[in-house]
Amino acid sequence: MKRDFDDPLYKDWRKRVVSRDNNKCKMPGCHRSGKRIQAHHIKRWADFPTLRYEEANGITLCFFCHSLVSKNEVFYEPMFTEIIANTYGNNSGH
Ligand SMILES: [Zn+2]
Repeated sequence: MKRDFDDPLYKDWRKRVVSRDNNKCKMPGCHRSGKRIQAHHIKRWADFPTLRYEEANGITLCFFCHSLVSKNEVFYEPMFTEIIANTYGNNSGH
C-alpha cells in the first residue's frame, strides 16, 4: 500500500495535528520543536484506514523521537493515546 505524502487530506491532517500540539514534540521529556517536527499516527496508518485523517489519532513528534517509535508503534500506542486524551481534556469545549 502506497502512502501519498502529497495527499491534500494527509497534509491537512498533519497541519491540524502539529498546530494542536503547538509545533512541539509530545514525547515526554523531549519538547523539541521546529522544522523536523512530524505527525505520527498513533494507531498504525496501514492497519487503521478509517483513522488516517482523525486528528485524535495523530501526535506530534520530532524526527528523532519518530524514528524511535517507528516499528514500535504498538508499544507506544497506550502512552500516546493518554497524552492526546489529556490534550483534549485541557481544552474546554473539545
Ligand atoms: Zn522528540
